[in-house]
Amino acid sequence: MTDCVFCKIVAKQIPATVVHEDELTLAFMDIGQVNPGHVLVALKAHAENLYTLDDAQAAAVARSCARVARAIRDAFAPDGLSVYQANGKPAGQTVFHYHVHLLPRHAGDGMELTWPVKNPPREKLEEYAAKIRARLAR
Ligand code: 5GP
Ligand code: ZN
Repeated sequence: MTDCVFCKIVAKQIPATVVHEDELTLAFMDIGQVNPGHVLVALKAHAENLYTLDDAQAAAVARSCARVARAIRDAFAPDGLSVYQANGKPAGQTVFHYHVHLLPRHAGDGMELTWPVKNPPREKLEEYAAKIRARLAR
């Protein structure tokens, strides 16, 4: 996509600090560096979000994420690692080219994700699950 910043990075039209590359994915340092070692694993092909990935692309991203996550762990010895991936503006997506954040975490690092649990009754879980299963079966 001509106007996509990550497509430009993949095409080497703008610089990025790359840590890992294979046929389908490119992993590079996030310019914002929420914590040192913050990496983005992106698909090389332009895909706006998770919904559009084929199985090979999904598998390739998962493999790169696991490999790079272990390298981040070994290099920075963080207390933890958050894997974050946003689809759509309300979910926090700002670059509309599919990517996963690998974010080393440290106690008290100021990163917050509020998680307002609802704990509905089991019947509700069944109701929600039935809707999803019906679509998976299509
Ligand atoms: P999102 O909010 O879509 O999940 O994440 C987009 C991320 O891309 C942000 O964390 C932002 O810092 C990063 N980013 C935006 N523009 C560039 C860029 O030109 N180069 C790099 N390396 N990262 C970028
Ligand atoms: Zn793109």
